[in-house]
Amino acid sequence: MAPQYRHGVLTTTDLTSADLDQIRKTALGEADPLGIAAGLADAVDAGRLADPEIAGEALILAAEIAESRAKHEAALRYAERAVEADAKSDGIKAHALHARLLFRAGRADEAMAELEPLRPRLTEHNDAPAYIAAALAVGGRHKLAEEWLTEAVQAALAERSSDPASAEDAGLLFFLLQQRHGIRHALNLPHDAHDNLADRLETRLANASTTAVGDELLFFPQAEFDRVIAKWPALTAAYGSTWDEHRARLERELSRRAASNPAPLPGTADGLATFAGLDADPADPKTRAGYTRQLAVKPSSITWPPERNGSCWCGSGLKYKKCCLPRARA
Ligand SMILES: [Zn+2]
Ligand SMILES: [Zn+2]
Repeated sequence: MAPQYRHGVLTTTDLTSADLDQIRKTALGEADPLGIAAGLADAVDAGRLADPEIAGEALILAAEIAESRAKHEAALRYAERAVEADAKSDGIKAHALHARLLFRAGRADEAMAELEPLRPRLTEHNDAPAYIAAALAVGGRHKLAEEWLTEAVQAALAERSSDPASAEDAGLLFFLLQQRHGIRHALNLPHDAHDNLADRLETRLANASTTAVGDELLFFPQAEFDRVIAKWPALTAAYGSTWDEHRARLERELSRRAASNPAPLPGTADGLATFAGLDADPADPKTRAGYTRQLAVKPSSITWPPERNGSCWCGSGLKYKKCCLPRARA
């Protein structure tokens, strides 16, 4: 069951790990994200957790929500509590987040005291590189981050050459290389062999994820469709040469995926252009897949399928049974 809100306040009785995932995805779009963060802390206090083990995770989420709203003092309080709640499992995430917020509060010595013990733990978990690097970067410790990550990359490479079959290590190696790559860019360092490897792995992963999640559910309402085609005429190959064709293709795609509860993701020409920025090309399917993934972060404003007698999902104002439903069968 999805977490319940009343006036933005969390009213779900027993929070599960799945609820936390759901809140992570939707909280920032709610009317009062800070109320939700407070609600998470209340749920921990009142023991309203399906599993007491997730207390740390709930408080980390509360801290991240508060941080994203620049409420750094509140975020720091939640993070302190997350570290306490997490003491048994000694989670990397809670410590690294706590350190990041200590840096934000100008308490650099305490932040470094939190981070130092994490240095040998960079290779422990796939999330570790991103959390630890982010904390060091917030503290302006880019050079130190580069040093730690280089050391961890070397350890991961050595590990891999002794056990090349370990696929999980390949994932971890990628996350380490990716963080190191980003930090080195921030430091304006030239590409080295590790950076080239990071680029190659990144391209390979991007290709793999394009086939898994592409732009099939990207939907352009009529006016946007006209703008998109006027701007990038080559996109008729991907989306159809008329809006009718576009709607029909999407309706077929949606029915094909009916079992997975799909929703059309409405996009705009400006949104696609902004996402592509200066160095990506909207004609590249990878760019459009990336834009679609960005849209998919928030729940779609369109539900599918509509009632047969209800108004059509495409926004034409006609009944579904007189609009896209028969069009896709034509
Ligand atoms: Zn690069
Ligand atoms: Zn329609």
